[in-house]
Amino acid sequence: MTHQPFFYDVTLRDGNQALKKPWNQSEKETIFSQLVDLGVQGIEIGFPASSEMDFDSCQKLAKMAPKHVVVSVLARATENDIVKAAEAVRYAHKPRIHTFIAMNPLGLEHVLKKDIQDVTQIAVKAIKRAKELLPNGQVEFSVEHFGDCRENLSDVINAIEQVVEAGADVVNLPNTVERFRPLEFVQMVQKVYERIGDKAKISVHCHNDLGMATATTVESFFHGATQLETTLNGLGERAGNTDMYQVAVALYNSGVNVPLNMHLFDKTAQMVSEMSHVPIWEKTPIIGSDVLAHRSGIHQDGSNKTKGLKKGQYIAFDPALVGRDDGEYLGFTSQSGKSALKEIYERAGYPITLKETEILMPFAKKMAEQKGELSVEDCDKLYRTHLCNVEGPYQYASFDRIQQGRYVLSYFENGQKKETIGYGYGPVEACIQGLCSLGVAISILEYQQYMLKREDKEASEAVATIKLAQGDKQVVCHAIDRSTTQVSIRAIFNGLNQLQR
Ligand SMILES: [Zn+2]
Repeated sequence: MTHQPFFYDVTLRDGNQALKKPWNQSEKETIFSQLVDLGVQGIEIGFPASSEMDFDSCQKLAKMAPKHVVVSVLARATENDIVKAAEAVRYAHKPRIHTFIAMNPLGLEHVLKKDIQDVTQIAVKAIKRAKELLPNGQVEFSVEHFGDCRENLSDVINAIEQVVEAGADVVNLPNTVERFRPLEFVQMVQKVYERIGDKAKISVHCHNDLGMATATTVESFFHGATQLETTLNGLGERAGNTDMYQVAVALYNSGVNVPLNMHLFDKTAQMVSEMSHVPIWEKTPIIGSDVLAHRSGIHQDGSNKTKGLKKGQYIAFDPALVGRDDGEYLGFTSQSGKSALKEIYERAGYPITLKETEILMPFAKKMAEQKGELSVEDCDKLYRTHLCNVEGPYQYASFDRIQQGRYVLSYFENGQKKETIGYGYGPVEACIQGLCSLGVAISILEYQQYMLKREDKEASEAVATIKLAQGDKQVVCHAIDRSTTQVSIRAIFNGLNQLQR
């Protein structure tokens, strides 16, 4: 692959014209600056002949344009439109006029009521006029409805040859309405490329009526088109235009050098969604909130086993590539497995062993069958109920410090109240010593304490994890409490009850 894609964004023209509430000047400037930051090579800023407001806006944006960015305005192939376009765009460092006319049989017969020779002459005249008014600029010519030119393709290709001879720098081939297969369109693009070669840049502009605009655009790139017309968030008429993020990531994955700051995609998508009032569907490729989620056991297992590798078993791209900081997400549903449950607890900061996950599994499955995906709060509830409240003969009552190194411990054993004084450097040691003095001989093999940080909780809680031994029997036990002392004693009693099983 020797050629590089030239990203030509039409959000401010095609995208904006399809919004329920088109952007005002300051919003357009925000989008324009974002496109410059993204590093796009060309920006279509508007349609100056459509209104005075659009004319003024185009002029202002053209003045804002940095040196390296091609700035383009749309014009029908008429004297008035071309003159207005030239006046509006001339302040840009790299100005371009984008003119167009339909060449599809339906458009020729019913809309324009002209034959292809007539419209070719109109196009040639418009291109020459644009060149005359903008000697240092470029001219792009679009064969509107190119995707509908299957029956008269050879006539259309002859016409394209003439517009290139007339000076068109870019020949844009729009799939103005997506009706057919991507491959058919791509083969038509290839035929144009075979005839025109490098005499003009070939561009594609695909609408997404059947949801295949990205496929058509990406494949067209591999068959001669170098300019790819896209929009942010896929905005545009009807089902929208080709989405920039999808095309960029698809090309990147195919080994193409993508000249965009892709790490800004996620941030840009959120901004555009807010500004356009067009929400991002959670399943939208690349930018949707759910596209990094795994819920089935097989997918969760594959995702866990390939975590941290360059390529994930069930993920199409590195989230960081497009600026996402959320990473792969595991959700527990009735379809999920124990490794996912363990992973979910660990990510939320709960110490848990695989064996404990197995204890929780039936409860988690049952809960998920009833309510769908479990929240962190649900998982917390299961953990407290089934791992931190182990029922048995021992029931903890209180543990208080009397003086340095001396504590009083109260509890019930088979309903009978017990009280003892325990000695030790710290509460854990004193508790164990106190229990031993009443004939409950246990020892601590491992002890760990963590903080559970929860955004929705006012204060953090501590989790204690203790490995306890009695004779040759060993158990791991936990407790959660706001007090770092109480949490340890509660964990010991949970362990004591487990040891009696
Ligand atoms: Zn369009």
